[in-house]
Amino acid sequence: MESGYRHMVRGRDRIVYLDHAASTPCDARVAAAMAEVLARPLGNPHALHHLPGRDAAALVVEARERIARAVGAAAEDVVFTSGATESNNLAIRGAARGIARKTIVTCRTEHLSVLRPCEELAAEGWRVRYIPTDRCGRLDLDGAGERIDTDTELVSVMWVNNELGTIHDIAAVGRLARARDALLHVDAAQALGRVPIDMRASAVDLLTLSGHKLYGPPGIGALVVGPRARERGIQPLLAGGGQQDGLRPGTVNVAGAVGLGVACELALAGDASAALGTRIRAWAADLPGAHVLSPADALPGLVAIAFEGIDASDLLACLEGVAISAHAACHDDPARTSHVLAAIGIPTALAAGAIRISVGRSTTRDELDLGLTEIADRVAFLRTLAKGASHG
Ligand code: PMP
Repeated sequence: MESGYRHMVRGRDRIVYLDHAASTPCDARVAAAMAEVLARPLGNPHALHHLPGRDAAALVVEARERIARAVGAAAEDVVFTSGATESNNLAIRGAARGIARKTIVTCRTEHLSVLRPCEELAAEGWRVRYIPTDRCGRLDLDGAGERIDTDTELVSVMWVNNELGTIHDIAAVGRLARARDALLHVDAAQALGRVPIDMRASAVDLLTLSGHKLYGPPGIGALVVGPRARERGIQPLLAGGGQQDGLRPGTVNVAGAVGLGVACELALAGDASAALGTRIRAWAADLPGAHVLSPADALPGLVAIAFEGIDASDLLACLEGVAISAHAACHDDPARTSHVLAAIGIPTALAAGAIRISVGRSTTRDELDLGLTEIADRVAFLRTLAKGASHG
């Protein structure tokens, strides 16, 4: 079975898929494991009084063990959710419920599923402090130390930024949070399989994962809730039957859990696509008016580039054989200005010309070159048009 987007057919065209930060194709081994589960006569994994239920429960336990091993946690810490958006909301709103401390520390380059719940809490009277970053989205750790105080309940910082590929020093943030007895939540949606993750070693209390970002199934994710977060009394967002220690009521999606478990295990093998990042940067360096926005030490396979004088939505509209995004793909208005690029001080006019290229497991050198050639070609075409319009 062909599992990559490489051979995705749109009409007669072959699409070169360079948008793995938006979503990764489900690995064939994940799909096979899920198909096997779906073909079995399993019961409800919470109906432990009969064998079909216990069989389903055993698969969920095994999936939790795989996920926990991949992130340095205990199997019982894994709470299945619908994806990273839900996990981030559960971490932030759940940690904030019924807690005496009233400060959250985060960063303006976080995903909207972190920023929006923080804004809601601010409207309810919480103090929200933002850690400053540099022009590449790197955290100012001294600034973080100043903002995390003994009144801080939760610090929320992503492991890898989804628009820039910037990798944060989570162990350093973990030390700062522990020193003030605050909880640390980390959105690792873009990180697992790309950077090593060890929750215990980095003092992470809550970790967000998403299946469709790591070659797993869409519609399932996890919030790994460590012992400190449980002791503090993190609360569920949903009311229901009390499944998953009451933290996320509702019947666990057994096939999805199995798929996520296999995806996490496969993620430990790493991602050889990193070498292709150097190729993207070398290509961009040769293009006039192109600025690489990602720092040199970012995730190699994710490169954000801004083209002067180009509107990224025009560029996306005229690309036919290559799939990329203008910054993040995960909100419904692609023409929206990126809050991440605004937060790191990229002028609005330049941010309007920003794209994100992200390679993946199945990307080959040849198809990357094909995609890059088409992008360069269309950028040149749009510049010619703009020149013609200004002369006309
Ligand atoms: N966090 C990050 C860092 C992301 O990149 C994304 C997806 N763009 C999300 C959260 C939301 O993920 P999901 O689609 O699983 O809700």
